[in-house]
Amino acid sequence: MPIRKSHLISIVIMMALLVTSGCSSNGNRSGSTNSTPAGNAANNGSSTVKEPAPDAANSATDSSTGNGTTTDGQNDPDKNNQPADDKGTNATTTPSENTTAPEPDSNATTDPQPVKKLYKMNKVYSFVPIDKATTSNKVVLLTFDDGPKEDKMVSALLDTLDKHKAKAIFFVNGYRVKKHPELLKKIADRGQTIGNHSWDHIDLKKESQASVKKQIEDVQQIVKEVVGTEPQFFRPPFGNGNDYVKGLVRDHGMLYMTWSNGSLDWDSSTKDKPDKVIANVLEQLHPGVNILMHELPWTTEALDTLLTKLESKGYGFIDPATIDLGLEEQTQTAK
Ligand SMILES: [Zn+2]
Repeated sequence: MPIRKSHLISIVIMMALLVTSGCSSNGNRSGSTNSTPAGNAANNGSSTVKEPAPDAANSATDSSTGNGTTTDGQNDPDKNNQPADDKGTNATTTPSENTTAPEPDSNATTDPQPVKKLYKMNKVYSFVPIDKATTSNKVVLLTFDDGPKEDKMVSALLDTLDKHKAKAIFFVNGYRVKKHPELLKKIADRGQTIGNHSWDHIDLKKESQASVKKQIEDVQQIVKEVVGTEPQFFRPPFGNGNDYVKGLVRDHGMLYMTWSNGSLDWDSSTKDKPDKVIANVLEQLHPGVNILMHELPWTTEALDTLLTKLESKGYGFIDPATIDLGLEEQTQTAK
């Protein structure tokens, strides 16, 4: 018994060493996020322009708190006349976690091996390969914020993602999940990743620490209740965070991100214009970009063509499960 145990321990230590040495090269980047306000850095170029005010279209609603009711109205589901066209919907029976890369000499007792990490986020919220020799940098991260709103749009997005074998993060708001837990479940069941986008879609920079805590933790809780696991990714509404928000997010084991490619799909200039959504994304296309989109009818309509165009340019889609959250290093620097 003791021999076996020590063997196990040394294996674990060796694995840990391998993992940390693999990470440390890029780790500094995320670790040093504090030195420069990365959030601002990413948004600097166009802070105001790119600021997603997805709920801004209904600014009539006022800033109060994300009133789901009114927000829904603006999205005029009628425009989304695209039939969700259920082709091959049940393709994805496997949630992302199932895509495990089994260790060659796995000890039966050890936990299931996590998915192999291939990418790390950099200071401007784009993604770079951990091993440039073996992993392509010609990839994008697809994200859809502010849902889940309607089955019609959610299903259409999921179908298109399936069609292109693409993965994405759906950054959800708690008040919407509360109204449509079945939609959240559907997103997770179809193998897509859930991210935390605060409960009410409010500017967390303006909130007290207690309020921020509630905004973030309540979403962790409801997502766990509905799909069984807590989100590992967080995006603040409007891209607005501060050190407290970032620290709390990290404490909850989440990677904090804004984006590096705004589709402007939330902006009035793009409303009802799927072609504009596509053009905006392609205009800012670079290897590793983190593409901000929303659950909106014109985005839903644009997605199939957008993904086809990205593929024709040689781009692949990052599976969020392959993102190294880099939390070890972040925790170290925080202390
Ligand atoms: Zn949002």
